[in-house]
Amino acid sequence: MSTTATPPQPTTVADVVAALARRYPTTWAEDWDRVGLVLGEPTARVRRVSCVVDVVPETVAEALAAGADMIVAHHPLLLRGVSSVAPTTFKGRIVHDLIKADVALYVAHTNADVADPGVSDALAARFGLTGLRPLQPPAPGSPAAGAGRGIGRIGELPRPMTLAELTRHAAAVLPATAWGVRAAGDPGRMVRTLAVSGGSGDAFLGAATAAGVDAYLTSDLRHHPAGEHLAAGGPALLDAAHWATERPWLDDLAAALRAELGVETIVSDLDTDPWTVHAAAPTAATPAATRTVPGGTAPGPAADPADPAPAADDKEPRREG
Ligand SMILES: [Zn+2]
Repeated sequence: MSTTATPPQPTTVADVVAALARRYPTTWAEDWDRVGLVLGEPTARVRRVSCVVDVVPETVAEALAAGADMIVAHHPLLLRGVSSVAPTTFKGRIVHDLIKADVALYVAHTNADVADPGVSDALAARFGLTGLRPLQPPAPGSPAAGAGRGIGRIGELPRPMTLAELTRHAAAVLPATAWGVRAAGDPGRMVRTLAVSGGSGDAFLGAATAAGVDAYLTSDLRHHPAGEHLAAGGPALLDAAHWATERPWLDDLAAALRAELGVETIVSDLDTDPWTVHAAAPTAATPAATRTVPGGTAPGPAADPADPAPAADDKEPRREG
């Protein structure tokens, strides 16, 4: 029986797990995903939580140096089945380091993507988008189905911008990476309505077209799907670094943990995007507006954007422009 004189109970791993499960129910995750508590004693005390996109040696070292008791990550450390967590393996080393340091690990991935507010709300906020709605709502009847939830967000920019302007703007408002932001489509195209989706967004090109937005910003876009999408009259595309599209959510996650549990939080700004070097080709100095972009990406006369050409995938010589 509790009284008003009872001192506050220390926050435990189980408390953080429960709070995250309320905000991002694990049943909202995709079937293929692996979310929830990865390791850590539920009864262990948590004073400080480190929020990261990726669990890699660098972010683990950062969390340990900062005295974190728990890491909440976006990407699963162990997505596919493993038969060993030996410390001689990359991921096994991480598992060992965390357990030895008594640091718990929790993952909120596609369940945080689909939540409202979720990963793409934080991304949309960087652009000041208003009138937000999901890019791809969950299937009716699925556990995540509900008003406002879904993958990606669509909203109106505070003011219309050309695609060229928006690309520069995106590079300025997103966390800095070597990759930066590249765009596909007519640089002079006016963009009023923008769709954004944190992480790999290939799968939602069709949803962006169906939504009738002017542009779609995501990451990990590929030559053939992007070229075919533009040739079919789809929205202009902005391809940012994967980490940069998900990093904004960490602020939202940390704020929620502080507000609900009173724990201290660390938001990792370590850029874990794999790309570390970027060089603009000298031809990129050519004013983009002078390029002819019928479908958008100007794939060149020999390329048929409608032809998936799997044999040629990634083997095409570089083209000018
Ligand atoms: Zn991701």
